[in-house]
Amino acid sequence: MNWENRWHPLLERWVTVTGHRGSRPWQGAHVEAPPPAPTFDPNCYLCPGGERISGERNPEYDEVFVFDNDHPAFARHAPPPEPAVGMFESQSAEGVCRVMCYSPNHGVRLSQLDRNQLLRVITTWRDQTYELMHQQGFEQVFIFENNGQVVGVSNPHPHCQIFATSFQFSTLAQEISATERYRTKNKKNLFEAIVQSELTDGRRILCENREWLGFVPYFAELPYEIMLVPKAQRGQLYQMPDLELESLSGVLGQVLGMLDNLWPVPQSYILSIRQAPLGLSENHDYRCHIKLQPLLRGPGLQKFLAGVETGAGHFLNDGVPEMKAEELRSAGQGR
Ligand SMILES: [Zn+2]
Repeated sequence: MNWENRWHPLLERWVTVTGHRGSRPWQGAHVEAPPPAPTFDPNCYLCPGGERISGERNPEYDEVFVFDNDHPAFARHAPPPEPAVGMFESQSAEGVCRVMCYSPNHGVRLSQLDRNQLLRVITTWRDQTYELMHQQGFEQVFIFENNGQVVGVSNPHPHCQIFATSFQFSTLAQEISATERYRTKNKKNLFEAIVQSELTDGRRILCENREWLGFVPYFAELPYEIMLVPKAQRGQLYQMPDLELESLSGVLGQVLGMLDNLWPVPQSYILSIRQAPLGLSENHDYRCHIKLQPLLRGPGLQKFLAGVETGAGHFLNDGVPEMKAEELRSAGQGR
């Protein structure tokens, strides 16, 4: 499986699988494992009682804690933009940015939370989505976690971010139009077709229960990339019954454990929760799912998005998805 192009049906572009390049020589720096963090850091602005840049103090919270970001990328009442000159366009970058601490424990990772704590995180993701869409009227709610120094995170306190905006981000908009084009062409739900094809092939499946399927997608752009997709058609987390969210805590815990157990250096990753925007019809094919994009291609080896990826928007995946799924499954058995 060298020099093989695979079609990415959600991004509607080719990905090149170059498995033979995974072991190429590397003379640069290796990513070191971070030192173990204490359970409480008096200087941390995310810890209970910690002082934030705004001067405000966090409450003595004991489970999940959500607050408005002190350095938001978007503003609720953003001023009107300067008129653009010539053919350029502008609009207000309107939105809300929140930070969500998963736990008061400064030194814990999402993967180390127990099943109940993980469920509490998931139900908070659900409640935040509902509130921001239905009470505050935001079109899109995008929840993501940047994990590890490789992604530029210097504070180890376990947390994610919630961006609610009045406009759509481009990858989500692309995925939504891909499901529409797939429906027109094939008369089928694209997410259902992906789930069924992964089940039929079977080699890339990492975990499965009645409600969810976890797999390294056939069309993965990064080694160790993982998708968690519900088997029922749901646009947002708040459409899922409690049982489905409980099942999600099971598969999410499993795949995070696999990533943690791969090597002595824990994986660095971007986790994103992709949900249908508010304005999309309830009958639309777009399905809420979770994507994990790990940024190490080997122990301590960072995957750089360089010339071809950044310069030309074409991904070279050094890992053969079938082999990476096998590695992840083996790592999961140690748990
Ligand atoms: Zn902290």
